[in-house]
Amino acid sequence: MASELEPEVQGLDRSLLECSAEETAGKWLQATDLTREVNQHLAHYVPKIYCRGPNPFPQKEDMLAHQVLLGPMEWYLCGEDPELGFSKLEQTNKPSHLCGRVFKVGEPTYSCRDCAVDPTCVLCMECFLGSIHRDHRYRMTTSGGGGFCDCGDTEAWKEGPYCQKHELNTSEIEEEEDPLVHLSEDVIARTYNIFAIMFRYAVEILTWEKESELPPDLEMVEKSDTYYCMLFNDEVHTYEQVIYTLQKAVNCTQKEAIGFATTVDRDGRRSVRYGDFQYCEQAKSVIVRNTSRQTKPLKVQVMHSSIVAHQNFGLKLLSWLGSIIGYSDGLRRILCQVGLQEGPNGENSSLVDRLMLSDSKLWKGARSVYHQLFMSSLLMDLKYKKLFAVRFAKNYERLQSDYVTDDHDREFSIADLSVQIFTVPSLARMLITEENLMTIIIKTFMDHLRHRDAQGRFQFERYTALQAFKFRRVQSLILDLKYVLISKPTEWSDDLRQKFLEGFDAFLELLKCMQGMDPVTRQVGQHIEMEPEWEAAFTLQMKLTHVISMMQDWCALDEKVLIEAYKKCLAVLTQCHGGFTDGEQPVTLSICGHSVETIRYCVSKEKVSIHLPVSRLLAGLHVLVSKSEVAYKFPELLPLSELSPPMLIEHPLRCLVLCAQVHAGMWRRNGFSLVNQIYYYHNVKCRREMFDKDIVMLQTGVSMMDPNHFLMIMLSRFELHQIFSTPDYGKKISSETTHKDLVQQNNTLIEEMLYLIIMLVGERFSPGVGQVNATDEIKREIIHQLSIKPMAHSELVKSLPEDVSTCILRKENYGNPSLPTSLENKETGMESVIEAVAHFKKPGLTGRGMYELKPECAKEFNLYFYHFSRAEQSKAEEAQRKLKRQNKEDTALPPPVLPPFCPLFASLVNILQSDVMLLIMRTVLQWTVEHNGHVWSESMLQRVLHLIGMALQEEKQHLENVMEEHVVTFTFTQKISKPGEAPNNSPSILAMLETLQNAPYLEVHKDMIKWILKTFNAIKKIRESSSTSPVAETEGTIMEESSRDKDKAERKRKAEIARLRREKIMAQMSEMQRHFIDENKELFQQTLELDASISAVLDNSPMVSDMTRTALGPAQTPVPEQRQFVTCILCQEEQEVKVESRAMVLAAFVQRSTVLSKNRSKFIQDPEKYDPLFMHPDLSCGTHTGSCGHIMHAHCWQRYFDSVQAKEQRRQQRLRLHTSYDVENGEFLCPLCECLSNTVIPLLLPPRNIFNRLHFSDQPNLTQWIRTISQQIKALQVLRKEENTPNTALSKNLENVDELQLPEGFRPDFHPKNPYSESIKEMLTTFGTATYKVGLKVHPNEEDPRVPIMCWGSCAYTIQSIERILNDEDKPLFSPLPCRLDDCLRSLTRFAAAHWTVASLSVVQGHFCKLFASLVPGDNHGDLPCILDIDMFHLLVGLVLAFPALQCQDFSGISLGTGDLHIFHLVTMAHIIQILLTSCTEENGMDQENASGEEELAVLALYKTLHQYTGSALKEMHSGWHLLRNVRAGIMPFLRCSALFFHYLNGVPSPPEIQASGTSHFEHLCNYLSLPNNFICLFQENKEIMKLLIESWCHNIEVKRYLEGERDAISYPRESNRLIDLPEDYSSLINQASNFSCPKSGGDKSRAPTLCLVCGTLLCSQSYCCQTELEGEDVGACTAHTYSCGSGVGIFLRVRECQVLFLAGKTKGCFYSPPYLDDYGETDQGLRRGNPLHLCRERFKKIQKLWHQHSITEEIGHAQEANQTLVGIDWQHL
Ligand SMILES: [Zn+2]
Ligand SMILES: [Zn+2]
Ligand SMILES: [Zn+2]
Ligand SMILES: [Zn+2]
Ligand SMILES: [Zn+2]
Ligand SMILES: [Zn+2]
Ligand SMILES: [Zn+2]
Repeated sequence: MASELEPEVQGLDRSLLECSAEETAGKWLQATDLTREVNQHLAHYVPKIYCRGPNPFPQKEDMLAHQVLLGPMEWYLCGEDPELGFSKLEQTNKPSHLCGRVFKVGEPTYSCRDCAVDPTCVLCMECFLGSIHRDHRYRMTTSGGGGFCDCGDTEAWKEGPYCQKHELNTSEIEEEEDPLVHLSEDVIARTYNIFAIMFRYAVEILTWEKESELPPDLEMVEKSDTYYCMLFNDEVHTYEQVIYTLQKAVNCTQKEAIGFATTVDRDGRRSVRYGDFQYCEQAKSVIVRNTSRQTKPLKVQVMHSSIVAHQNFGLKLLSWLGSIIGYSDGLRRILCQVGLQEGPNGENSSLVDRLMLSDSKLWKGARSVYHQLFMSSLLMDLKYKKLFAVRFAKNYERLQSDYVTDDHDREFSIADLSVQIFTVPSLARMLITEENLMTIIIKTFMDHLRHRDAQGRFQFERYTALQAFKFRRVQSLILDLKYVLISKPTEWSDDLRQKFLEGFDAFLELLKCMQGMDPVTRQVGQHIEMEPEWEAAFTLQMKLTHVISMMQDWCALDEKVLIEAYKKCLAVLTQCHGGFTDGEQPVTLSICGHSVETIRYCVSKEKVSIHLPVSRLLAGLHVLVSKSEVAYKFPELLPLSELSPPMLIEHPLRCLVLCAQVHAGMWRRNGFSLVNQIYYYHNVKCRREMFDKDIVMLQTGVSMMDPNHFLMIMLSRFELHQIFSTPDYGKKISSETTHKDLVQQNNTLIEEMLYLIIMLVGERFSPGVGQVNATDEIKREIIHQLSIKPMAHSELVKSLPEDVSTCILRKENYGNPSLPTSLENKETGMESVIEAVAHFKKPGLTGRGMYELKPECAKEFNLYFYHFSRAEQSKAEEAQRKLKRQNKEDTALPPPVLPPFCPLFASLVNILQSDVMLLIMRTVLQWTVEHNGHVWSESMLQRVLHLIGMALQEEKQHLENVMEEHVVTFTFTQKISKPGEAPNNSPSILAMLETLQNAPYLEVHKDMIKWILKTFNAIKKIRESSSTSPVAETEGTIMEESSRDKDKAERKRKAEIARLRREKIMAQMSEMQRHFIDENKELFQQTLELDASISAVLDNSPMVSDMTRTALGPAQTPVPEQRQFVTCILCQEEQEVKVESRAMVLAAFVQRSTVLSKNRSKFIQDPEKYDPLFMHPDLSCGTHTGSCGHIMHAHCWQRYFDSVQAKEQRRQQRLRLHTSYDVENGEFLCPLCECLSNTVIPLLLPPRNIFNRLHFSDQPNLTQWIRTISQQIKALQVLRKEENTPNTALSKNLENVDELQLPEGFRPDFHPKNPYSESIKEMLTTFGTATYKVGLKVHPNEEDPRVPIMCWGSCAYTIQSIERILNDEDKPLFSPLPCRLDDCLRSLTRFAAAHWTVASLSVVQGHFCKLFASLVPGDNHGDLPCILDIDMFHLLVGLVLAFPALQCQDFSGISLGTGDLHIFHLVTMAHIIQILLTSCTEENGMDQENASGEEELAVLALYKTLHQYTGSALKEMHSGWHLLRNVRAGIMPFLRCSALFFHYLNGVPSPPEIQASGTSHFEHLCNYLSLPNNFICLFQENKEIMKLLIESWCHNIEVKRYLEGERDAISYPRESNRLIDLPEDYSSLINQASNFSCPKSGGDKSRAPTLCLVCGTLLCSQSYCCQTELEGEDVGACTAHTYSCGSGVGIFLRVRECQVLFLAGKTKGCFYSPPYLDDYGETDQGLRRGNPLHLCRERFKKIQKLWHQHSITEEIGHAQEANQTLVGIDWQHL
């Protein structure tokens, strides 16, 4: 069908292209009915351009639309060529001083903490960088999309509202002139005409609801019969559901379905089928049927293609309008006028109104287009912003209701524009006074919460997910209310007062519905059956918390408002309590001669509610009345006399008693919902407007009542009145033993009550309660948090309540589901005081920066600080006592000195010296003195002591601050000196304290009692000296004196006992420690950091005295044999390492590696066919072996591994859980250190010693040796050919051998005996096979000829990677290596050298021949790589390790050492040639003197030879000095690797010079390696043969191609790979990522942009669009990338999360802390806090080091072992 359509479409295109915009515009200019004319044009052309087939062609459509439709409009508007016209308009344009940039998803935004009026004020990156705020304290976040830059908005910034760019236009904005004056009348008129027609057309068509019929003026004559089946998005169905349904309904592939789903999600709709009506209808019914089962079905419409065409053009038109008004502020003004002009239908008929009101019916794409137009027009024009705000407010209720029932996220709703309007202070104020906005919002909110109980209180149903979803939507209204209230008025007009108070009334109505909601009744007998609903009510409370605080803030600003609000609040509270005493029998309580009447009420028997917002608001207002001193200025205006203290305290008291009873275990049967409620009641998120205010309300009550009456009511509510009014309660109880539980319960209640009294007296740090300011309050909070332990900045912030003005969500973050609401970006005022109370300790390489309390602040510590949880309290107590002990002070924690109360609360302190209080104190002390049974508890006593301490502090303060003439009425000391009255006749409180100070069972409290007595005496002294009110001399003091001496002696004795005990314990401890270290020796040795351990090469090596040491060759320094004993970590048995004994093995981990790769685009394509014999110098895929160095018996390990395997199988069957390691792939964890391992390396003695035969004195020189070896190879090849030729008779074969001239002493029939034990042989095979399997990623096959190659390769690669690490860290080559590395390299090298004994001799010989032939060409070796394409170190290792296979058949007397030496020399020379060919191309400017040394001349001569052999293709060089320098630099890594290799192979200790750091050690290396210092000598010594060889190397075609520039080659030295460079400032990464779009779905922004730290590629991670198939599985972009970039291992930075991601294979991964820190030394994973982040180079280096050390997989293993949840993550989808 498509092919038939194609020519038709093209034909059409041509006719369309001929359509002239100018002519059409000309026709329009003549038209009498322009609207009709234009509509006809559109009716004719739009369906011809848009919607011509099943798929849209956006580019073509745009092009044609511009030509045929928009072009004429532009011509019409300008009246001339638009190019000219628009540039003229631009000249008179006054660019807006507002930036108004609309944010993309993920774009960084900035807010200034110092200058932003509220946190919703943000800047785009460009404006921020050009503003003064970049030097202020700022926050950075990533935008969730939508919202715009506030640069230039003077109301948004206290300072610096303009950036440099937007400041340019500010001079003119003062005089607000009409932008239309710059336009000509004609232009104005035409613009007006065309805007009006087009805007109306767009609105009409977008809001058109018929599916197959067009508006009459757009109907066409010939209408095609084509329809679309249009699928709309909703937020209910998942991606998977939609994809599945589409595949079924329209028969498409999964890929197409994903494409449809992605577009539907992005644009809000997409046609999924095109054709006749029936055809589309059919698809629709399938989709509806398939998706209607559980939920409401997906929305699908079958629409006529012409309607879709017009709608598409409508959208295009709106964007066009947006761009046209960018040319001129005048045009913008006209568009605003057109949009807001009322239509013929009056109210709500303007185009803007019509769009807003159909918002929820439009699809996502249409919404965002018109929202953007509003933002760039209405919101950018100051005059029309106001008018628009009014329209918005008038429609507010309707818009909100639409939003609540709509299912799209808020960012796609017009309601979301509230933040842009309400946060502008002038607009907000205008809307409050003129549109009564506050009341409207609150009433709308109330309307949506309809469920009430009989008393009219809110009642919420089960809080289901759906409920929660709806509830969340309603809550956005609260957010709007916050926006309106966020900036407080500086001036009040009468109108504002009136409208605010109206709003306040509405708010009180709301709170009234909450007062007493969700009441609970204590469950007795049975446990509750169903947990009652509580979350909804608490969510509501939590959301309103800030609004309540803001309401108070507003009230505080105006005395008249405060007084009115206070009155209103009191009236509502009285209403709530109406009938509160009705039907209740009053009851009279009496103690100590006081009596009071109260109601009969029991918390444990009747209903009680935690929700008391009205009482709490009143408490807040009361504090404000106190603070603002309104109470003293206008007492007559306040209804203070109407206050009934018992009524005020009743409900808060009940609530606090409820908490106490829950704590005492009385409400256990009420389940967890109650526990949760109590938790939140005290939690930092709620307490400010819950718990804290209840305390204030009680304080208010006490300060207005007789404290005795208060205490009696309190005792009664705590149900303790009985106990304290019964004189001998203690004795009675202890005689009855039955009620243990009840006694325990009562004890807890008494403790709780005492605690409450302590809080009532001690909590005076709210401004208005005590004489403090806000700074004191926050300081105190911080001091107490830090008393628990040192804390990081973020921990501290979390523990403090957020500041009201910053509780608002940043506007662009709203609707971003990954961010929990309002928790982030909070301001606590901490910054201002933290310096005063704490020291900052910087973070190290790990961990965070910490704040530590300054010692001088410790005296302000209050053990009973009311915001401590119980756990925190005991931790703080412990920490503070420990501190005191360390400072050698006594351990008493007396109450701190407190600030005085404000006058309104001043009388509160009398509670401490009231009769009932003294009775309570005396009673508890009496019980303690009697010390029997369970009647008293230590906490009870501790609290009483604290209360006594508080009273003493209070009295002392009073005495010290008293004015001359005043009498101090606080006479606590006097009262406690008096004995109790009849009938008790108990001793005085003081006397009892003196008795108690020696009680043996009160050791802990002794210091506190002593402190009390001391303070008592001090007060007595003050009293005496001032003779104010003399305290009667009592018997107490004398007793105290005498007891002091006794006490001293006792203390001394105890101290001595304690010392002895301590010493004994210490001795025991150190014994145990020693034992532990012995037992876990390996563990202590194994220190992972390279630089950590010093136990090293030297210690393990035999002592060799000779100072010049030689590592190889006939002159090798002899190494005395040394016996080695090792212990198995599994069975703890010790064993000697011997050739014939059982194998000992090391746990090892083999992995493929690209760490050294110089070519990341290269990877092994077909492992089965891959030939690894020659390593390419780009080192693109190596095999690395690592080990933790832990040694086991081979059989012990096998048993261990079998058990791991069995366990794992059982576990998988049972739990289907994953482990951090893959048992099926042979992985296990080292039994000692849990290091990830996948095989074991056998532990061997130096293998060369075993095969070394007698040394003959005269060994061949290089030339002779090469000749001999060549002959031997030739002989072998002939033999091999014979063997492989079938049908040869044995005799003939023998004959040939005779014919063949065997070199002298060569015996190819000789097969050496393998000296190793069976068990060692088995382990040699095991490790060899593992290296082969992992390195090539193939199935294990121990027979494969490539096994030995892989073993040698892994040895070479591992040495190379370690050499690089040492080099990069500037460590000397033989600096002490950590044990594990040393052990690993030694075992690996020895293993690789011994492996040939278990491989086929002929295979190894074959490898040797081929390797040898690459340097010494023989016959029969066709395609060998040219020397440019061989890594010489790999070649060296292969040759040296394969050589014994040949040498063992050679009885001519050539030693292994000779072979090693000649091989080494030969390879070295080849490498020098390699370097000269590739790396000497630059003769940098520093021309050295030509008169140069012998060596330089020699190099130059060599170079000239090369030049000649290469046919002069090699660039000419004249400086021997440069050449020599380049050669030396280029060859250094090779020499260093060789030194390591021969060191481990032959065991010759390294010369001490190389162990020190500093110089390059070139000479020492040469000596150690038996090389002449002037290595050009090598060439000269073997002139003849080398000439031949060099010539053959140079004649290779590849060399020629390279020199002619046709190909590349690696040059030397190879630079170490590094992770990419990261920017200093994290926001530039965010910016970079926000510009990154998904490479697969055409221009879409990627949701999880992720940066590969190895190669710098940005990936679209964790998303359907970029999944690819890898080995038959769908994997995400990151996993796919690791396979090409890191052979399975990857290091990424998730930019939006600020998180490092490690991946290994498909199943392993972990997150790692990012190398970016804020100023407090903390990382911000998830970017929740938004502090500016800067690169921490040390941490980045650490990550790089992990990579270089091949420890990424190990790191993941450790992380997964530590945190099991990481195992469950589908890493492959990232
Ligand atoms: Zn900006
Ligand atoms: Zn700006
Ligand atoms: Zn600033
Ligand atoms: Zn063992
Ligand atoms: Zn280990
Ligand atoms: Zn993508
Ligand atoms: Zn990469």
